[in-house]
Amino acid sequence: MINNLTRWDDTIVAIATPPGIGAIGVIRLSGKEAFQVIARLFPSKDLEGIQTHSLVIGFLKEDGIDIDEVVISLFRSPKSYTGENVIEISCHGSPYVQQRIVEACLRKGARLAKPGEFTQRAFLNGKLDLTQAEAVADLIASNTNASQRTALHNLRGGFSIVLKELRENLIQFAALIELELDFSQEDLEFADRSKFYALVENAGTTIQALLASFQLGNVIKNGVTVAIVGKPNAGKSTLLNTLLNENRAIVSDIAGTTRDTIEELINIDGILFRLIDTAGIHDNSNDVIELLGMEKSREKIEASDAVIYIFDVNKETAAELSSAAILISEKNPHSLLVGNKIDVFSEMDQPVNKFPGHDILFISATHNMHIDLLKQRLVSKVSRGIINTENTIITNARHYEALTEVYKSLTDIKNGLDNHIPADLLALDIRRCLHYISEITGDITNDTVLDFIFSKFCIGK
Ligand code: GDP
Repeated sequence: MINNLTRWDDTIVAIATPPGIGAIGVIRLSGKEAFQVIARLFPSKDLEGIQTHSLVIGFLKEDGIDIDEVVISLFRSPKSYTGENVIEISCHGSPYVQQRIVEACLRKGARLAKPGEFTQRAFLNGKLDLTQAEAVADLIASNTNASQRTALHNLRGGFSIVLKELRENLIQFAALIELELDFSQEDLEFADRSKFYALVENAGTTIQALLASFQLGNVIKNGVTVAIVGKPNAGKSTLLNTLLNENRAIVSDIAGTTRDTIEELINIDGILFRLIDTAGIHDNSNDVIELLGMEKSREKIEASDAVIYIFDVNKETAAELSSAAILISEKNPHSLLVGNKIDVFSEMDQPVNKFPGHDILFISATHNMHIDLLKQRLVSKVSRGIINTENTIITNARHYEALTEVYKSLTDIKNGLDNHIPADLLALDIRRCLHYISEITGDITNDTVLDFIFSKFCIGK
């Protein structure tokens, strides 16, 4: 239970801003002694009488030697991020100055914080539940509008509110059912079974929707992988570059999983796409069947969320395109046929008439023709226009696994009610359901789980 978790009452310190030179650096202290530690370094002002949420400007000194002129923000327990006394020192953003301040704090009684320890303390002090603490990490890692909004929604407790309501209702019924057990000789039913049945059914629908949102959640958090396949010289690399020019995601490039592929991240309409250029896979083949049959191409096509088959409208024959379309759609249901180089289409006719019977998007990668349409198609393939980040969306595998168990136990409760099982067995299923809900919110957890979650945070968060 939460009461058995390890708690620390020492005072921690860490740099909260990213490494490197900046205009300002922020160093954070949290713990019972945070005010005392800082008082030892800040002789110019008496911090004792200063109200919470105040700013104080002055010189930070160690043993009489100036370190920097700083602004100190004071947050008194419990009105702080961690729930403890918190001091934030805004100093000049030199890595040396920041390090010097941290070292001075260490010498005056603080210890260096572990990764995520500030947020872990916030959780242990009841300022956040576990889903909100995890949302803090997601928010820090967010790199698109969708991932930022989803994390913010969960940070505000969007997901926990749903679970809390279910938990409270279940606890009420569990209490009534356990009361029945105390009066088992009298055959009384305190808990209204039909009301309970409706509740469980509703909860099941809610949980099912949350489980279904996981796929979308994954897309929001990790991006959609799109393999760009096609013959050599079809324009794969050019298309990738054209898309990248306008939409390169802030995140840095990731090397492809093999030397043959290049993976780039782009942000289209707030959704992260991982575009995989397979140009290097099949440098020697010009035959569509051979090309798409190659193991590496096949793997990429199968493992991606969507596939773009790009071909040169001037060189591809209708028969080749048909074979390619069939081969790809067998391996991946989300494929997009893209006819490239319409800027130099030499025939009198429209390109669309050369390839009858297919839904093709005609573009010119070099002349930026219909690239916007291609982006729209990609977005609609993923979201079908329904990415609404105001809805609660599951983005975390830990939550998904526990919710699956919640759903299973709700189904067991429903079956139990259908079969009029005895109250003691019903109570067991309800407790199991409550257990998994509490695991998600952190009402039931242990140090190992917490260490695992918070070790993924950065130091200073
Ligand atoms: P990849 O082998 O599929 O990656 O093909 P590339 O992107 O390297 O393109 C092969 C050649 O086709 C290059 O010379 C490109 O400049 C050219 N190319 C690509 N897209 C277009 C296009 O839309 N129009 C024209 N005219 N040339 C293009």
